[in-house]
Amino acid sequence: MDGMMKSETQGFASLVDRLRAGFLTGKTRDITWRREQLNNLKRFFDENEKEIFATLKQDLRKPDMEIYSSEYDFVRKDIDHALKHLSSWMRPEKVSTPLSLLPAKSEIVREPYGISLIISAWNYPIQLLLAPLVGAIAAGNGAVLKPSEMAPATERLIAEKIPDYLDNDLFAVITGGVETMTKLLEIRFDHIFYTGSSHVGKIIMAAAAKFLTPVVLELGGKNVAVVLADADLAVTARRIVWGKFNNAGQLCVSPDYILVERSVEEKLHQELKQAVSQFFGNDPQQSADYGRIIHHRHFDRLVGFLDGQKIAVGGEHDREDKYIAPTILSGSRFSDPVMQDEIFGPILPVIGFDDLDGALGEAARLPTPLALYCFTKDKAKGDHVFEKIPSGSASLNDVVVFMANRNLPFGGLQTSGMGAYHGQHSFEAFSHKRAKLSRGFGGDVSIRYPPYGEKTIGLLRKMV
Ligand code: NAD
Repeated sequence: MDGMMKSETQGFASLVDRLRAGFLTGKTRDITWRREQLNNLKRFFDENEKEIFATLKQDLRKPDMEIYSSEYDFVRKDIDHALKHLSSWMRPEKVSTPLSLLPAKSEIVREPYGISLIISAWNYPIQLLLAPLVGAIAAGNGAVLKPSEMAPATERLIAEKIPDYLDNDLFAVITGGVETMTKLLEIRFDHIFYTGSSHVGKIIMAAAAKFLTPVVLELGGKNVAVVLADADLAVTARRIVWGKFNNAGQLCVSPDYILVERSVEEKLHQELKQAVSQFFGNDPQQSADYGRIIHHRHFDRLVGFLDGQKIAVGGEHDREDKYIAPTILSGSRFSDPVMQDEIFGPILPVIGFDDLDGALGEAARLPTPLALYCFTKDKAKGDHVFEKIPSGSASLNDVVVFMANRNLPFGGLQTSGMGAYHGQHSFEAFSHKRAKLSRGFGGDVSIRYPPYGEKTIGLLRKMV
């Protein structure tokens, strides 16, 4: 068995060696090659639209609208954006040169890292694997793609189809679970891009440290939506309910819980309840617009959170169908088990507060939000909330939609991750900024060389 494991690791190592040899041919430096790979990836979407929708339904029973907007169209638009801007992103960035170094030219050149290992989570199994790949290709890298084993239908589709579209000298798909990951992490990659839990994020970073491999970690956190008394509660409730129960709450930027000013707590509860029944009807299990929990282990963990809680909305569950109703808890406390870690499911605790700063202080002690939300008409109060809780991103009066703006970097902070991507930020995430200084042979002043005299230091002092 031990021998078998070793030989599998060796197999992965020779695969990465082969891809690195492909990288070292220099072909990825050519913009034509990058455009070709991006266009081929787009063709994967165009030619497999039906299969993509079917596999995502099989894995997560996602509604068509969510598949289209957050998986299918999301990555296609990312590809179009990269194709449109690629030549300007690739252009060396000119920077000024201090007088003391003239004549010279200074530039920052974006260099590909080499072969990246891209590991995806299961909740958006197409987007989270292929959106980073867009950045990897745009920046001229090769990659090993590791789809999530928790979304098996999508994993199969990726493994079967993607190799038909990409340059196999530079790209490969490896499937498998924790054992496969453990072996993969024994190998030196030039870059690792990981999306998943903070717990596994630490394992990835420790493995990368052995080789000093740079990492981007896209993790999760305890995202809070702070609702102040002056907010439009009907709009607030609709936006929160939409963001929370999208993909049955299995969304890394969904509001994990609500902190609401006590004076409007009751009214907010009424609006939340109304939004749930408006969106999903009296029996959300029958709604075509409501998803399912990925697997039974996660289902059991989520249902466990309901013990001893006051359920304001929902609470029903059906293990066989992996269904948990959109559920809202009232009178929750920071000490409740459901408040200790990211929920990542359709359970929304609501905590009322009288003292804003006290509540924000408690929220700031929880795992760092990937996304922080505040609802108020007073921008200054919103900024106050944003100052008190560190987070990967911050949105005023809406949830989740900031992700649709490719000009904004998407990434976490502290326990919710490091590094960011989307749009040009993806290109940057997969590029090393190489400093390049070019001089001629003229202007070779003798005072820079020993023996240094008194005059040299005097001159340096004057030069600033
Ligand atoms: P996970 O970290 O449990 O698993 C991700 C992958 O890591 C697995 O598919 C597996 O192959 C591998 N893995 C698991 N255990 C491992 C181990 N011990 N050693 C080596 N590899 C191991 O995450 P998940 O359950 O797929 O996703 C849920 C988490 O991902 C949530 O915390 C969520 O917030 C986060 N997430 C973050 C983003 C983001 O963009 N920041 C997006 C989606 C999900």
